[in-house]
Amino acid sequence: MLFDIRPKSRLKDLYDREKEIDELRQSIDLGEPLIIIYGVRRVGKTSLLRASLNEFGYPYVLIDVREIFEEHSYITKNHLYEQMARFFTSNLELFEKLGYKIKDLLKHTRAFHISGISIEVNPSVNIDLTSIIRTFNDWAKKHNTRFIIAFDEAQYLRFSGATRYNGIFAWSYDNLENLTIIVTGSEIGVLRDFLKLDDPKAPLYGRYVREIILNKFTPEQSREFLKKGFNELGINIPDHEIDEVINKLDGIPGWLTLYGYYRGVQKLDHRKALDKVFEIGSKLVIEELEKIIAPSKQRYLAILEAITHGATKWSQIKTYVEYKTKTRIADKNFTDLLKKLVKYGIIEKQEDQYKITDPLIVYAIKAMVSR
Ligand code: ADP
Ligand code: MG
Repeated sequence: MLFDIRPKSRLKDLYDREKEIDELRQSIDLGEPLIIIYGVRRVGKTSLLRASLNEFGYPYVLIDVREIFEEHSYITKNHLYEQMARFFTSNLELFEKLGYKIKDLLKHTRAFHISGISIEVNPSVNIDLTSIIRTFNDWAKKHNTRFIIAFDEAQYLRFSGATRYNGIFAWSYDNLENLTIIVTGSEIGVLRDFLKLDDPKAPLYGRYVREIILNKFTPEQSREFLKKGFNELGINIPDHEIDEVINKLDGIPGWLTLYGYYRGVQKLDHRKALDKVFEIGSKLVIEELEKIIAPSKQRYLAILEAITHGATKWSQIKTYVEYKTKTRIADKNFTDLLKKLVKYGIIEKQEDQYKITDPLIVYAIKAMVSR
């Protein structure tokens, strides 16, 4: 169902991402070592990843790094192993279907043991991630396939103390022929910084990396997505309502899905369904935003407020922020603040104009300011 609000795990439930799916498949088939999937929050990265990996026929493990971060505020290798164990446990069938014995894959790692039908981490042994992925690689080589390790929302790997994951990725890149690492990130600039792709002194600099960018839906795609979704549910929605949804939600698949869910599954009327998307969506967005702007809340809020009021240029925004916060800000500091917001995917810069990436953020800012 297109209006299922969880990330999709079947390609048939994924609307119109053929190009990206093909690119992902091709890139793995070609044996590329590192693939990055970028896109703003709720554009469908997790869905693309899950649905594709579920159906491509390669053995894989998918780690939800944000989940670990939310649970522990910190990433240790044991957290990663626990996620792997959980993934293997709930995907035993997938391995079986592909004709592989998960026991074979795991026994050489020594990090896991199998108890009954669940895979568990061996707490007593201290094993490096490099050693585990090397084992996965060797196993894949023996079976004449590739093993894929996917880190969803990988930018959170930066909260892992002394462990340098970009270094581990580079090592894997150079040494593990049968391994592909896939990372995704909503905070595109933060992810690039973390991987140090643009730092000449860093291990991944200058290496070829496949970068797949997921864009928001165009108005035409949004319309077709909504029509297909309502069609599946046997519901007919008037065009002017669809038009309003497209206008207000700006092609963000997650919000369109949520609208479709309220309207088509919960059977709310158009107005209530749209209001509900704004109500629930802005709560989510405020929670995410609070964390990002906390280091300099007043200034960040003033920037976002300026843009919601229609300022688009650097100087216009700066004038507003200085007026609002009653302080002067050095040009460089101000540019840094703007860059931070771009890195976190809150605003985007097109030519010399700044824009907020998501209409729900605009709505949330208005709510935060008036509170
Ligand atoms: P992300 O990982 O980029 O934040 P998700 O994959 O979690 O995005 O998608 C957000 C929501 O939008 C989910 O409810 C998902 O089901 C839906 N969604 C995203 N892209 C599509 C798509 N192409 N077709 C159908 N549903 C989608
Ligand atoms: Mg996701």
